[in-house]
Amino acid sequence: QIKEKNLFYEINRKVGLYFYHNLTKIPNPALEYLTNRGITPKTLASFGLGYANNSWDDLVLYLQKEGYQLEDIQKCGLIRANKQNGYYDYFRNRIMFPIFNIRGEVVGFGGRVLDDALPKYLNSPETKIFNKSNTLYGLNFARKNISNGQIILVEGYMDVIALHQAGFKNAVASLGTSLTKYHGQLLKKYCDEIILCFDGDTAGIKATMRSVDILTEEKCQFRIMMLPQGKDPDDFIKLHGSDKFREQINKAMSLTDYKILLAKNEHANNTIYDNMKLAKRLSEIIRDIKSPIEQEAYIEKASAETGISKEAIKKEIYGQNPKLS
Ligand code: ATP
Ligand code: MN
Ligand code: MN
Ligand code: MN
Repeated sequence: QIKEKNLFYEINRKVGLYFYHNLTKIPNPALEYLTNRGITPKTLASFGLGYANNSWDDLVLYLQKEGYQLEDIQKCGLIRANKQNGYYDYFRNRIMFPIFNIRGEVVGFGGRVLDDALPKYLNSPETKIFNKSNTLYGLNFARKNISNGQIILVEGYMDVIALHQAGFKNAVASLGTSLTKYHGQLLKKYCDEIILCFDGDTAGIKATMRSVDILTEEKCQFRIMMLPQGKDPDDFIKLHGSDKFREQINKAMSLTDYKILLAKNEHANNTIYDNMKLAKRLSEIIRDIKSPIEQEAYIEKASAETGISKEAIKKEIYGQNPKLS
């Protein structure tokens, strides 16, 4: 068992180096793509980025030549069997992101297309050494660079890489899957506070709401950053630079403030109807707050913002029964 795992680590490492060689030493379309996206040679090297050639059996032939068994390579999720009992490469014509475990061993890969083809990203399947639900991309680097006790949690490979390159070396991402309780436990082990920084789109908001449930369950401290509509952390850094990103981290919100901001964005027309809808939504949000003092403070704010009296908001929150209010 241990011997087999070690063989799989070895194969994955070998393949990572091979992809890196393809990217940096041989003419290929991926280097230009990454360069255009602002990735420096130093970052390519530190993340071990690579390129899977545009071929059906390039990796099959390479690993066979190196003396590895096809069955073992297949168990690593790197090649697949076809109907004629032959094998073909799983990753073809893709930019390759080696995925490291906490000890820095390569356990799998993410692969991105160079154009708008689908699927945009393809990940290694789960194997004896690769379990997506307890792996966080970049954690092997971030754990040595925790700043202010924080880890920045983002959605994508490119977000992690762009943030590290911009000096935020405490960024990690889940691997295209929802955050799991194991991710939560892992994060808690390495930091005091998680800064959630998901894409500024509907999917990002949904992922944020799912993640905070899990983080709350695992008793993790967290705050939430809200990015501009349609932008992810990589876009933000490119557009506004790292100083502005730092400011945004410092302005990261509590869950209550995040929910309130979402509600305000959703009902922003200042019509009677919108104010009423907003007041109702704010009442729901305030009902979930545990501290009576905090509740009181938010009721004050909600009233000022909607023009609805505090009395009406309180009745909405606690019901008509005076014993409850
Ligand atoms: P890029 O900037 O290169 O377009 P991104 O990270 O911004 O990449 P998103 O579409 O925002 O891409 O997706 C976020 C993350 O979700 C990706 O980095 C990847 O890990 C995962 N992901 C996206 N599409 C898929 C897919 N089809 N299959 C599996 N995982 C995916
Ligand atoms: Mn997205
Ligand atoms: Mn992106
Ligand atoms: Mn994105």
